[in-house]
Amino acid sequence: MNIKNYINGAFLAPLSGNYIDNYNPSKGVIYGQIPNSSKEDVELAYQAAKDAYPSWSNTTLEERSSILSKIAQLIKEKLDFLAEAEAKDNGKPLSLATAIDIPRASSNFQFFANAITQFSSEAYESFGLNAMNFTLRHPIGVVGCISPWNLPLYLFTWKIAPAIAAGNCVVAKPSEVTPMTAYLLGEICNEAGLPKGVLNIVHGLGTTTGQAIIEHPNIKAISFTGGSTTGAHIARTAAPMFKKLSLELGGKNPNIIFADCNYNEMLATTVRSSFANQGQICLCGSRIFVEESIYERFKKDFIQKVSELKVGNPFDEDTNVGALVSKAHLEKVISYINIAEEEGGRILFGGKKVEVIGSEQGYYLQPTIIEVTDNKCKLNQEEIFGPIVTIMPFKTEAEVLQMANDVTYGLSATLWTNNLNRTMQMTKQIEAGIVWVNTWLLRDLRTPFGGMKNSGVGREGGFEALRFFTEPKNVCIKAYPNPS
Ligand code: NAD
Repeated sequence: MNIKNYINGAFLAPLSGNYIDNYNPSKGVIYGQIPNSSKEDVELAYQAAKDAYPSWSNTTLEERSSILSKIAQLIKEKLDFLAEAEAKDNGKPLSLATAIDIPRASSNFQFFANAITQFSSEAYESFGLNAMNFTLRHPIGVVGCISPWNLPLYLFTWKIAPAIAAGNCVVAKPSEVTPMTAYLLGEICNEAGLPKGVLNIVHGLGTTTGQAIIEHPNIKAISFTGGSTTGAHIARTAAPMFKKLSLELGGKNPNIIFADCNYNEMLATTVRSSFANQGQICLCGSRIFVEESIYERFKKDFIQKVSELKVGNPFDEDTNVGALVSKAHLEKVISYINIAEEEGGRILFGGKKVEVIGSEQGYYLQPTIIEVTDNKCKLNQEEIFGPIVTIMPFKTEAEVLQMANDVTYGLSATLWTNNLNRTMQMTKQIEAGIVWVNTWLLRDLRTPFGGMKNSGVGREGGFEALRFFTEPKNVCIKAYPNPS
């Protein structure tokens, strides 16, 4: 199936006629083509957004909210269709796309449909000065949204929904690796009555299409989710143009397990936080630290549970682990298994490609557990973003805290303990934007989401996202006594 750009409510071929192949990773075959949009396509999208802006930014909140709700509703109605498209395009189990990705895409629109009606700004009465300050929050204008391949529609809509709810018009680019559900979203937006040009979706490579968006002089804000190296490049490009930037980047998250935790809950959740979506979630707990007294028990039970995961075709009902997203990514992930061997890591489970019958060319890898002895090793320092976790024991709280923080990343952390004092102390000291205690990936969309250190700049979620997509303007009014 060939994909087109969605510009001004219409589906357009790229002006240059350049296309790139789109792969089905579970089969390892090309199944369509997508535009490799040029600067000229991005300009067309920008113009459409610019033209739509005066009217869209002046719609009532009620009207905006009702269109966003309609989009949410349509995504819900097309759940099965969209989940199948996502599983085929990304390689993730259909069960996961059906239970998580697509419902969340719908929730993103519904959440911001509601949030925008409750968004407010501050006012200060300057006592003694006879003045009043209040802050207006205007939409920015035309903004750019760029998203990755791991949770395609989920993350694409997580940016678009607050951007348009706040009254902006958008030029958006999904990952070239997983463009399909973003393409389908265009049809949904038309069906929901979103005015032409409010959302424009251009497809293509990061280095051509993405680059044209971040370099565009009149796209005044960029919301980006992806790798830290790309994030650094975007920051370098956008900073001299004084663009507003939100960067949601990579992670190397610790999963810290104390002996006093609820063991069974921890074990089941740790299997999920290690290998959900083939380990391709920025929040996965890829470094597992286990208190020494339960280390051997955990190791045995964890290996047992992981060995029960079925690697298979995303469309098989009993598949737990699907295909990795691309051949290049599979090779990158496998290179870390070789690095582990060089570094003296012990492969406790997995480490091999899997040949799935009927899908022999697909990009499958066993979930892999590697025992390491030093947090300084590459496996513990570099983001792999695949089905590989490391495990190592620790003795004291201070030791594990030091290791947890001793990485360049700071996205999320998980802590398993029933000790309240320890929870209070450690959550304060862990360097991460999100800390889960006795759970993982439990999300309340009102909370601030994002990372510190090399994991990003700024926060998404709730009113934080609406603040990002608006420009505050303080108005100060002084009053004088009435002339008598
Ligand atoms: P990536 O950085 O390669 O690509 C992300 C997006 O940026 C894609 O759409 C790509 O085309 C585009 N891009 C690439 N170069 C660009 C350029 N020069 N200018 C503009 N756009 C450009 O990342 P990826 O491989 O798609 O995704 C995996 C990464 O995303 C991992 O590091 C993961 O941790 C991170 N991630 C972070 C979060 C979070 O919320 N913090 C969530 C999901 C994924």
